[in-house]
Amino acid sequence: MYSVIHDAIAAWYDEHGRRDLPWRTHHDPYRIWVSEIMLQQTQVKTVSERFYSPFLDAFPTLADLAAAPLDDVLKRWEGLGYYTRARNLHRTAQLCISALPQDAIALEALPGIGRSTAHAIAAFAHHAALPVLDANIKRVLSRFFAREERCDQTLWRDAYALLDAQRPYMYNQAMMDIGAMLCQSKSVTCKECPLQSGCQGQSEALRFGCAKARVAVPIRHRALLILRQGARLGLIQRHERFLHGLWGFVQRPMPYKGGALGSFIHRYTHFHLHATVYEATEAPCDEALMWFTREEIGGLALSTADHKALSLLDALSSQPTPQAPPSY
Ligand code: SF4
Repeated sequence: MYSVIHDAIAAWYDEHGRRDLPWRTHHDPYRIWVSEIMLQQTQVKTVSERFYSPFLDAFPTLADLAAAPLDDVLKRWEGLGYYTRARNLHRTAQLCISALPQDAIALEALPGIGRSTAHAIAAFAHHAALPVLDANIKRVLSRFFAREERCDQTLWRDAYALLDAQRPYMYNQAMMDIGAMLCQSKSVTCKECPLQSGCQGQSEALRFGCAKARVAVPIRHRALLILRQGARLGLIQRHERFLHGLWGFVQRPMPYKGGALGSFIHRYTHFHLHATVYEATEAPCDEALMWFTREEIGGLALSTADHKALSLLDALSSQPTPQAPPSY
């Protein structure tokens, strides 16, 4: 039914597709899985330029990842955020050890692998005839079929309907690229799009598949405490679900009594942290407090907010001490 469009997609991908992305130059399921998990919440450029290769250099195989301590995995994930992804990668590696399953249903049963990710691994590593349904493809399909409502059940049905089952690898990669390059959330380039001959939504493209309006993000005010024991700083390892396993400075509610060293804002998806950094005036009774030199802290996995606090501290300690005025 869509053979003309499939051929147009193949020709477009051949000429314009991002075929040199590092996870598109092989069919290794482990490496494809790592890329898919990194790309879930992070831009292609960030993953390809900063995180993908260093992570795989550290953990070249599934067995290497399974054998690594979780702290090492979190350290390599530092800066990518959404650390649940790293913990699930580690758990899945430990469950599978030698190889990921080939079958999409078995993949989907593993921690951190949803239906679209399972299909991506199966299609890209094993050429399974399955559609991927990431955010870009959802937008393209919503416009192609002129869907007013964002309904996953309908989108999955649409995804199967348009799939090029003969060329699932090329088709899925091309659809991702069309979403990223031509059918973007705020602009469309329909005249260059290989889907245009069948696209029902192109005359009013921006009406369809647009992201939901952003809701106001709450602000949390926190004091970050710098605790010192000689040259060592006191840190805790977080055990709550958010940032679980990462090390960081003790936090206290605001207002906090003491001399503030500085402040910064860090934007998480679901809240904005307004942090003020203090030299601690009291020794907190956090049982889990541990003491590290600045050098040792460099080897720990810290959240980006705690790195900001550390940078602030480094900047203050590198400032020249004011010299006493000459006495006459
Ligand atoms: S023709 Fe336009 S609206 Fe339709 S999928 Fe292509 S870029 Fe999007």
